[in-house]
This record gives sequence, C-alpha cells and structure tokens, in this order.
Amino acid sequence: MAFDTTRVGGSGEPLPERDILDGFGLLIAEGKIYGADRNPDVLKKSGSGESFLATAVPPLKRLLAVWDRLFGNRVSPVELLRHLAVVIHGFEHREALLLFTRDRILYDCQIFQGKEAVGHFTLDLYRERDRIVPFLPFPTRPGRRVVYIEGISLTRQSTGYASALFRRYERLFHDLGFHLFRLKASLSVGKYYWAKEGFDCSDRKQFREIRNRLWDLVRRLDLPVAEQEVRRLTHMSDVAAFRRDIQIAVWRDREGYYTLERDAAHPDEFLFPLGKAFLLCAGQWDGHKVIYTDTPRRTGLVWSEAYLSHGTPTGHPERPKRLTSLWESIRREGMLSSLILLEPYAPAMEALHAVHDPAYLEMFREAVARGDRYFATRDCAIGTGSHAAALLAAGGVMAGIDAVFTDRADNAFCAVRPPGHHAGRAQAMGFCFINNVAVGAVYARSAYGVARVCILDWDVHHGNGTQDLFAEDPETLFVSLHEHPSFCYPGTGRRMDRGKGAGVGATLNVPLSPHAGDREMIDAFEREAVPAIEAFRPDLILLSAGFDAHRDDPIADLECTEEAYVHMTRRVLELADRHCGGRVVSVLEGGYRVESFVASAIAHIKTLQGREDTPCSSAGG
Ligand SMILES: [Zn+2]
Repeated sequence: MAFDTTRVGGSGEPLPERDILDGFGLLIAEGKIYGADRNPDVLKKSGSGESFLATAVPPLKRLLAVWDRLFGNRVSPVELLRHLAVVIHGFEHREALLLFTRDRILYDCQIFQGKEAVGHFTLDLYRERDRIVPFLPFPTRPGRRVVYIEGISLTRQSTGYASALFRRYERLFHDLGFHLFRLKASLSVGKYYWAKEGFDCSDRKQFREIRNRLWDLVRRLDLPVAEQEVRRLTHMSDVAAFRRDIQIAVWRDREGYYTLERDAAHPDEFLFPLGKAFLLCAGQWDGHKVIYTDTPRRTGLVWSEAYLSHGTPTGHPERPKRLTSLWESIRREGMLSSLILLEPYAPAMEALHAVHDPAYLEMFREAVARGDRYFATRDCAIGTGSHAAALLAAGGVMAGIDAVFTDRADNAFCAVRPPGHHAGRAQAMGFCFINNVAVGAVYARSAYGVARVCILDWDVHHGNGTQDLFAEDPETLFVSLHEHPSFCYPGTGRRMDRGKGAGVGATLNVPLSPHAGDREMIDAFEREAVPAIEAFRPDLILLSAGFDAHRDDPIADLECTEEAYVHMTRRVLELADRHCGGRVVSVLEGGYRVESFVASAIAHIKTLQGREDTPCSSAGG
C-alpha cells in the first residue's frame, strides 16, 4: 500500500509488454485514460497550470510508445496510478486520470479530505531532447526525464502536505529513473517552502537577480548584513535560511499573500526571519530540483564561465581550452543531468588573508589592473580576467566545501583555473596565484569547525606551495605523489621533507621515478598514502587533482592512464566513507594535453559519482 516499502520495478527488469497492455485495458475500461490536446482556449480543468482538452483514447500503439519512452516499462499503468495516489495527512487523491499527448503524460486529480473536495493537482511527465550538436536544433536524442508540477492548489490550509507528498514522489520518481522536478514557484507560501525543500532557480541569471533584490532590501532597511554574506548565497535554500537571527516585518492579505509594505489590503503584520520574509514577498521564479537517479553518489560540479577569462598567450599549456573541452565532454556524455552544478563566489578577503599575504594579493591585483603580461615569474601569464578568475577559483573550492557540509552534495569536483598548488604565502609560480586547496582547508575549519583535513595531491608536480603553507600544522596532513624532484618541476618534494616543528610527520612526500606508470603509482599510493590517511583519520579530504601524470601529458615523464585515477578515486572515497561521511572535495590542478586530461577528469568525476563504468581510453589508445 504505502510506497515506502516497495521499490518500483525492484529488479530493474522491464515488465513484459503484455502487463502494460493489460493495465491500459483495465484503466480505459474504468475511464481513467484519455488523450489530451494542449489548448489554451478550452479550459478543461481548474488550477493554475496549462490548459488542456481531454480527447478520445489514443491508439494503444501510441500509448505504449509514450510509456516506454517515459518509464522504460519499469512500472505498469495501474501500479503508477496506485503509487501516485498516496494518502497523506488525511488528504486523498480521487478522480485521478492519465492523459496522453504525443510525447507526455499528464496526471490529473482532485484532492479530497473525507467527503469534501479541497484541492486539485496536476503533474506533467515528459522527456527532454538533448541536442547532439550544440547550437543546431537537430539531431537530438532522448534526454532527462522531467516531472513538471503544473499546479497544486488547496482551499484548505495544510502545513506540510505538499512537502510530505513531494518527499514521497521524489523517492518514487527516483526509482522510475526520472531526473528533475520542475515548477513555477508562484504560490505565496510555496516560494519559501520550495526553496527550503531544495528547489533552485532553473536559470542562474534569475538567481542573481533575486540575490540583488535581497541586497537592495538589506540596504533599504539598513540591516546589519555585509554584502559578502549576500554574495556568497548560491542556492535558493541558502536564501530561505538566510540570517534567521534577523526578524523583519511583513504584511498579509486575506488570501495569504505577503508584502513588504503595509497598505490597506494587507492589514496583518507578521515577523519572520529575513530570508523567509524576503521569499514570501518575492516574485515568481522557475524552480527545479535534481532527483539523483543515475548515480549512487551526489557529486557537485563547480564551474563558471569566468574561469575562461584567465587568458594565457598562445602556446601556454594552461589555457582556457582545457576547461571548455572538459565542459563539452561532460555535456556530450550526458553527465549534466546527474551532476549538481555549484556556482563559485568571490571569497571575502579575510578568507584569502588567512593563507596569503595581503600585500602580495594587492600586488597581484595591481599587476592585472596595469595590464601586465605576467606576474612574479614568466610562466605565470596574466590577462584582464586573471585576478577575478583566481579569486573565483578559491571561491569555487569554498562553494564545493559548502555543498558537502550543507548536504547539498556528497562530494564535489571543482573545475577551476588558474590552478593553485604551487602558490605560497607571498609567491606566484608554476601557473598558480592563489592556493585554492589551502584556502579551502582553512575555510572548512573556520566555517564548519572541521578539525583534521587531509590534502592529497596527485598532480605530477610536487605541491610545494601547499606543503609550505601547512608544514608546521599537525592538523593538516599533506600527502603528495609526484615525479621525483631531480627530474621534474619545481624540484622539491623529497622524501626527507616531513614537516616542521609541531607539524613533523604530517607531510608525506612520495616521489616516483621517471616513466613510472599505473602499477608504480597505484603501488606507492596503496603502500604509503592509504595507511597515512587511514592513521590520520581526517574529517575532510581535499584532493589536489592534477591529471598531468598521464602518459600523454607533455610536461612530465610519468606514464599513468585513466585507470590509476579511477583506482585512487575509488580508494579515496572508501577512506572518506570510513572517516568523514564521504566528504571529498576534489580541486583541479594540472593536466595539459587536452585529450588525456579530459578523459582522465571525466573518469575521475564518474568515479566520484559512484559509477562503475570502466573509463574510456584516451586518444592515442
Ligand atoms: Zn602539475
């Protein structure tokens, strides 16, 4: 009866077509299946969603085709209706219909409490089409399965009904292989509620506008809030929870709509926390929530177009194409539907000053503003967007850390540039300006009270900047696997460097001989890195994930393949599961041959997601 105990299509096997056909026969005889035409002129139903006109039952062949496209025959029509019609808080679905258009199914019902009809509810189930060639409308292929909440209206107040209903539905549609909920957050109370439930703006521009309006409100009311606090909001749930300690007044009309200005139509005053009050009074927004269906782990992806604006001269290995190619591959592999996109924010300067010398950061800013071609060393090329990109790279790691500590994601990959692990307290080198992973470690401590952080660096180059920053800190374990310093930039990372002062023993350098491959890398990782991390028992694992130990990479001599990255990623997840609730934030460092870099990063991200697919081999086999 209740859905909770039964997984739909538990075995994952599709049902025989016969069962689906029998189900259609039964429901057609009961008058529960119709065809539907979308028709804005003919209002068949009440409610706020799109209007449609019920028509004759479509041919069985069409019903079957739509069913297969949406459910892969994992559930029969009778079962689906039964699963959808859950009874919660004494509210019951009746007069439920399934309406079929050419490519979607509408579920439409009345909500009853006892004998009384108290509401109406419509869901629209459809499948997006993905473009195979970007910018061209054709050809396309079937994409994400979407549940669109066309409308839910209740004439009776019932706090928590919709919330409970959608929690059940989330589970149901997860098992049915759907990817997304969508809705228009239009109801007055709904706007706050949906945000609280983890619905986010579908469109980042819309989110930024909402954030700007919140900042306008803060200024207008002269509230004790710093602009930085508003700027680092990245999700509607952050807005809903924003500054619960500050209460502001709102006014409500008879129908339950709120405004920020008192007037004759809104006589009733209420005090609400800032974020809640703001959302109750805000305009509509298009919301969506990802249902994580494809992957056992929820992986966040930090990404921003701003990372491309750090321009480097032609021929420079650390170029924007690394990220555009990675993004294109993620899209082409259909991974966007299962990754949680995380937006980086510009960090507060205090967060950076905890790692870098303020005067150094100021010199970097000035060099970019002056239009210099490089900063500090010749290899650290800069352009107009370099300063902003470097700040956002550090802020990207912070956004990844926020996501794993606020449970928005289990782990995260930060596709940032410029990289960071060579940058020291007052030193840019090796394409690095701000030490992203170090800023992340310090931020995790101050924002989430994390005690023990492990930074595992498997970039082929020694992470000298990170090592120096934490050399005396016994609470930060730094483990680096890299090509031997006698052969490779930056010439540090010898086995004898084990930390300083109180930090002795919290640095582990594992140099590898030139031409070492997967076997040597994995052996060294298992023999040295794993026991050290195991003994340290970290509360968070940060990865300095460079992919330049790959055999196709032009600027070092190790000969690893994607297999090594997959192996190490899996083991890191196991360690994280044992010690820190699976919290891993992986931060991109090097990787310069675009093909092998992209193949390795994709294999790494898929492994973070808990996928078992073997990695595709890179170009050149
Ligand atoms: Zn490197």
